[in-house]
Order: sequence, then C-alpha cells, then structure tokens
Amino acid sequence: MFPAPVSGTIKAAPLLRRWVERLRELGVKFQTNHQWAGIGTDNQLIFRHDTDTFTKSHDRIILALGGASWPETGSTGHWVKLLENQSIKIHPLTSANSGWEVDWPAPILEEAEGQPLKNLELRAGNEKRRGELVITRYGLEGGPIYHLGPRLRSMDQPAVIVDFKPDQSITELVDRLGKAQRNFVREARRRWKLDSGAAALLKHLPDRGPWKSAEQLAREVKHCRIPLDQPRPVTEAISSAGGVCWSELDDNLMLKKLPGVFVAGEMIDWEAPTGGYLLQACFATGTRVGKAALSW
Ligand SMILES: Cc1cc2nc3c(=O)[nH]c(=O)nc-3n(C[C@H](O)[C@H](O)[C@H](O)COP(=O)(O)OP(=O)(O)OC[C@H]3O[C@@H](n4cnc5c(N)ncnc54)[C@H](O)[C@@H]3O)c2cc1C
Repeated sequence: MFPAPVSGTIKAAPLLRRWVERLRELGVKFQTNHQWAGIGTDNQLIFRHDTDTFTKSHDRIILALGGASWPETGSTGHWVKLLENQSIKIHPLTSANSGWEVDWPAPILEEAEGQPLKNLELRAGNEKRRGELVITRYGLEGGPIYHLGPRLRSMDQPAVIVDFKPDQSITELVDRLGKAQRNFVREARRRWKLDSGAAALLKHLPDRGPWKSAEQLAREVKHCRIPLDQPRPVTEAISSAGGVCWSELDDNLMLKKLPGVFVAGEMIDWEAPTGGYLLQACFATGTRVGKAALSW
C-alpha cells in the first residue's frame, strides 16, 4: 500500500518505512554499518564492520555510493580511490548546485547579510536564469546560481551579471525616478521597489558609484557585474559533478574493466539541477542497472 497523505502531505518517514518493509518482503537483506573497502580477485567485495575486515562473493554487484556532498550522510566519495586502484577513470568530484564565494566589502555584510535579492535575472555568459538569491557571509546562495554552476565553473574568471529589474527597461526605470537629482539609490528603493540587499550592493560594490544620474543607476541595476571567487566546498554542495567516466561504462552501466559490476546514481559523471532532476537520474540509472544485472 502506498502511504496516504496526512492533512494533504506525504511525510518522508512513513514513505521510507513502507519502502524498507516492501524491500524486506522481496528478500532484500540490509547490512548496516558495513563499509565497502575495495574489490579483490573475482569481484570479491572487501568490507569493514567494526574492527573486522572480510570479503564476500557475489554473482553481480551494483555500486550506488553517491557523490561527495554532505559526507555526514555517508556519501564521502572514498570509493573514488578504490575504483582508481582498478584503473577506472574518474572525473574529480566537484561542487554542483552550490553557492559561490564573493569577497564582500564589510559594509555590504553589515547592511545585507542574510537579505534576499528577489525577482532577479542572473546571467553567466549567454545563459540566464530568473529567481531569488541570498547574500551570505561568504557569498551568494540560491536557485539561479546553482543552475548556472556548470557555466560558471567553465569560466576563467567566473562572474555573474544581475538584472535586478528584469521586467523593466532602462527608459521605464529612468521615467519612474522622475525628477530625482541626488540620493539616487534611496529614491530607487522607494520608486523602483528595490530590495535593501540590492541597494547595499549598489552603494558598496567596489568601483561603482557615486551615481550621478538616474540613467547611470538604471544601467547598473540592469547589468550589475559581481565577480565570484570559487564554488563553496563540495561537502556543502547539494550534489557533486564528476564521477565514473562514461567511457568506462557499457550501455548497461556495467564497468567494462570489471564485468559483473554495475554503477548507478550520482557516482556516474553527470550533473543536473535540483528540483527532482537529480533523484530522477538516480532512479533512472538504478532501474537500468537493476534490469541489466538481472539479465547479465
Ligand atoms: C541537502 C540536499 C538536498 C537535496 N535536494 C534535492 C532535491 O530537491 N531534488 C533532487 O532531485 N535531489 C536533491 N538532492 C540530491 C539527491 O539527494 C542525490 O542526488 C541522490 O540522493 C543521490 O543518490 P545516490 O543513490 O546516487 O547516492 P546517495 O543518496 O548519496 O547514497 C549513497 C549511499 O552509499 C553509502 N556509501 C558511500 N560509500 C560507501 C562505502 N564505502 N561503503 C558503504 N556504503 C557507502 C552512503 O552511506 C549512502 O547511503 C539533495 C541532496 C542534498 C544533500
């Protein structure tokens, strides 16, 4: 029986309990606190459990060991070394769907740390994404910057261009500022409904301002360049890019160098945005290897 919604929502815990129950009914045995520590001859798996190390033979093996983000969940990426020992090529695991670091001037943090930047359009090269960002102590977080991660990682000098008012043209913005002749940012806060976070950036980002005209400020609001340092560490990212290279796999996601050993999920070299796409790719590759392992 599929868990029924309680007050309109399905909670994760009952879903997981029911899933585990179903797997037990199908004969699945769970061995928790066993760490896979390598592959011996004839695909024997080496495990560590408490202080013991032992090997086990299996007809077919599916590895689904995840990436390297959030290691506290067990996904430490230690398998990279183990598979590299078998001469399997792995693209290094790096942060995907992660925040980016910015060396904010102190006044920006004083005025805007934790503030949202709403309804903006973010651009990296020729890719753009609408949404919301948050100014954090170390940089920027939020959906649009996660989405642009692959493009940003490919840049020598990563930077984003923010359009704080994507639905208004420069002319419209200038018209709305009316006869203002000074205190342009303060006037823009009121007349353009500019976020306090955006106002802090316009006041304190280096090499900008002081603003001498409404048009000058409007141009910046539509095209505010923020140089980025680097993505946050992979341990804090939502997912990892990199993993087992596709060239190491056959069409059934079996390792060509280790016949009978299949891989699924985030440990393969793909990446996807959040919003269900990562889980979908894990389910899709899991289904594929499940079927392939059965018929191998
Ligand atoms: C905070 C957060 C939010 C997320 N939100 C979303 C979202 O909204 N939408 C979405 O689609 N995806 C989301 N994801 C990503 C998604 O959860 C992952 O992509 C997915 O769980 C990866 O599945 P997997 O089976 O490949 O690996 P994992 O789920 O990481 O599972 C790997 C398992 O292998 C075990 N393991 C690793 N090494 C060993 C070893 N040597 N021996 C024994 N066991 C080992 C680990 O303990 C772990 O249980 C989110 C991830 C995080 C961290």
